[in-house]
Amino acid sequence: MTRSVDVAVVGLGGVGSAAAAHLAARGLDVVGLERFQPVHAMGSSHGRSRIIRQAYFEGADYVPLLRRTYELTERLGFDVGRELLHTVGGLFIGAESSRTVTGSRASAEEHGIAYELLDAAELRRRFPVLRPAVDDVALLEPGAGYVVPEDVVAAHHAVATRAGADLRFGAAVTSWAADPSGEGVEVRTSDGTVRAGRLVLAPGAWASGLLADLGLPLVVERQVLGWFMPDGGVEPFLPGRLPIWIWEVPDGRQPYGFPALEAPERGVKLALFRGGPPCDPDTVDRTAGDVDVAPILDALGDRVAGLPGTRVDAAACLYTTTPDEHFVIGAHPEHPQVIVACGFSGHGFKFTPVIGELLADLVVDGATPHPIGLFDPRRPALATDGGRV
Ligand SMILES: Cc1cc2nc3c(=O)[nH]c(=O)nc-3n(C[C@H](O)[C@H](O)[C@H](O)COP(=O)(O)OP(=O)(O)OC[C@H]3O[C@@H](n4cnc5c(N)ncnc54)[C@H](O)[C@@H]3O)c2cc1C
Repeated sequence: MTRSVDVAVVGLGGVGSAAAAHLAARGLDVVGLERFQPVHAMGSSHGRSRIIRQAYFEGADYVPLLRRTYELTERLGFDVGRELLHTVGGLFIGAESSRTVTGSRASAEEHGIAYELLDAAELRRRFPVLRPAVDDVALLEPGAGYVVPEDVVAAHHAVATRAGADLRFGAAVTSWAADPSGEGVEVRTSDGTVRAGRLVLAPGAWASGLLADLGLPLVVERQVLGWFMPDGGVEPFLPGRLPIWIWEVPDGRQPYGFPALEAPERGVKLALFRGGPPCDPDTVDRTAGDVDVAPILDALGDRVAGLPGTRVDAAACLYTTTPDEHFVIGAHPEHPQVIVACGFSGHGFKFTPVIGELLADLVVDGATPHPIGLFDPRRPALATDGGRV
């Protein structure tokens, strides 16, 4: 059976769920198509915590989007009657010249984000489990913290459904075809065809398949999360006593961690930013064990007292990375009725509310007031022969 709607959204994970919610809230007739069940652990939006921050070492250009995403995350929490934005603070630690410290500081200065700079002695005094080197410093951002990805995705599903969107789970999109006129798209799925005026493609780690015609140089990386029970227990790791932290070590690796956010027996979560092995999302091993968490612990060394302690769990998650680590958001270069949102390069979750909003702008108005030039699908770094050095 063929159905005709204003807009189809492919993928109802972090980004697609937000797009569906914003589009439906604007009164459009929306169909969302997701191959798995709601809030699954097969893609990029699971693992029970994601860092959110505004002092952004990846580039000050992201800060206006971050400010808006904070507002939208709070509003979404209000809409579903649940706290979604947890500002437990954040520490960005490293040598004074490290990218983590200089970049966080530059963006905070440029945009007037509240922060404190702590030297190693002050860092130890305030957060006794941390063991900085004598020349480490830390930027403390009180407004940083975390969101629970499963809660945010479920909230976007709820808001979308409440506004009338038809969200279909267990519906895998096999192909799509755009009308050469620039109006209309046909989307084929495992259980029928949908005709839509516009199409939003937010397929996460599966983007290369659905966007093969663009030849985007996306690399899917397997990234492992580990949960550890510290020697001596979680007491010094409780929120209020320890914020989220990212620690750039001298060779440039960035282990990071969360306070003890879950039931005490879950311990604390640790991971490593970037550098995971390339993989195929259809065949990757999603179970993880000691071998998989070893690189996290190797990068962390003995910088946090009580860790690694005992491992209590581990999970695999997928990054979809571009050569310059900026997102890919914009109209498909050949089909203006198709909007592409992929390549979130391991740092996209915190932005999902604002990305949903700006995708709705692109669908409804063909443009957005949000600054998205950095994410242009036609930028030189995405030329298949360029970018990577
Ligand atoms: C270990 C780890 C830690 C991270 N930490 C952070 C962090 O601290 N802060 C942060 O901001 N970001 C973080 N990220 C990144 C962030 O989680 C991702 O950028 C974000 O979740 C990407 O969302 P997405 O919608 O693109 O992908 P997903 O949420 O995976 O959604 C894509 C969806 O598309 C569906 N789909 C694909 N193909 C089809 C098809 N053919 N038909 C139907 N449905 C389809 C998939 O099933 C999936 O549900 C982390 C990621 C990982 C893996």
